[in-house]
Amino acid sequence: MTKTLADTLAARERVFVNCSHPMCCRSTKLDIQSLIDRLGPDHGSMHDDLVGLFKCSRCEAAGRDRRPVFFTCVPDYDGIDKARTRDGKPTVKR
Ligand SMILES: [Zn+2]
Repeated sequence: MTKTLADTLAARERVFVNCSHPMCCRSTKLDIQSLIDRLGPDHGSMHDDLVGLFKCSRCEAAGRDRRPVFFTCVPDYDGIDKARTRDGKPTVKR
């Protein structure tokens, strides 16, 4: 199953791009909406779909070796929690 940028946006996931250079470790929040504007909603949002698109500008500016980036995906915990508790009113039997 492929996950698309539209899926990621719909799930309200937050995606961070991380630099794997030990001197840097920069982490940047990805703007999913602007990625969709650039690549289209059907573009994959899995690691392999995105990894070639990013490089670390801070390492580039510092003249460090280019290291691959990796992604961290943070689910929408607040939304998940609300959805879970919305229908979960306890019923008290008398
Ligand atoms: Zn870097």
